[in-house]
Amino acid sequence: MTPPAPLAPALLAWHRRHGRHDLPWQQDRSSYRVWVSEVMLQQTQVATVIPYFQRFMERFPDVVALADAPVDEVLHLWTGLGYYARARNLHRAAQRIRDEHGGAFPTDYETVTDLPGIGRSTAGAILAISTKQRHAIVDGNVRRVLARLFGVAGRPGERAFENQLWAHAERETPAADVDVYTQAIMDLGATVCVRRNPDCLLCPLAEACVARASGRQHELPAPRKARERPQREVVMLLVHREDASVLLVQRPPTGIWGGLWSPPEYATVGEADVALPGAAEGRQLPAIDHVFTHFDLRILPLLCAAPEGWQPAGLWYNARRPARIGLPAPVAALLEGLEIP
Ligand code: SF4
Repeated sequence: MTPPAPLAPALLAWHRRHGRHDLPWQQDRSSYRVWVSEVMLQQTQVATVIPYFQRFMERFPDVVALADAPVDEVLHLWTGLGYYARARNLHRAAQRIRDEHGGAFPTDYETVTDLPGIGRSTAGAILAISTKQRHAIVDGNVRRVLARLFGVAGRPGERAFENQLWAHAERETPAADVDVYTQAIMDLGATVCVRRNPDCLLCPLAEACVARASGRQHELPAPRKARERPQREVVMLLVHREDASVLLVQRPPTGIWGGLWSPPEYATVGEADVALPGAAEGRQLPAIDHVFTHFDLRILPLLCAAPEGWQPAGLWYNARRPARIGLPAPVAALLEGLEIP
């Protein structure tokens, strides 16, 4: 049996005509810019990422500027993008690059994968796109394309499934034009071989595609195993002063919204009342529901005035003159719309 034709020629030809060529991180493709874009694009759509990327580059034009910035400032520019561990890891990795590599992004694969927040696929994408080194990638989009194309059954995260996809990816990644190939296969997954209703009629790989031939585009890849979604509830205590500023405390560096600032949280109104006597008499505001990947959070905001002379730890945040700190998106929206009596 003749082995299937390599993917690269068809993908490169398709990318010349139909790929994306004008994204901000495609101009001046330094490792630093590609790295930041790849991290922002994990779990997030291109259209959402563009303004964040541009603001980030204006404020942190190079690795050292990022490394030297306070983490609060980094989280501030990340507010609303979610998955804040990504921002903390970027900052930590930038400090390592400044301190251990003289501020130059490493070009060695092992060293890159050793940096915080950079896995095998992200390292491959950074080096392939910015230095044209031949490395395979299997990110969310590429996983979907390869699973369908080669008819690989299984679920993302399962070892046998992932190993097969990596083997296909390694074999297909060309030595020449690896930067364009990498961009092309990611673009194909993002614009043609999309999760729902892939546009097989426009696909340059359609003739070779196992899923298409057997009508299994919608079965491959199988979704990740559904998990029980736990529900959590917290009372968020909004203590305000007369100048309309609200008390915020910094969250621990790990856990949800790690390192961001938010009003103090308690399990119950009773607990809040112990921390600040009289809080239970405060005004309950409408609940806010927020969906995380692994659970649903219901925030019960409780508004009360700060007792005179009270000097808690934390900072007083005024939405009219906002400090440059990282806020979780629902907290930012809550403070923005807060009407203080
Ligand atoms: S033919 Fe359809 S399912 Fe197969 S790779 Fe192309 S878009 Fe995806």
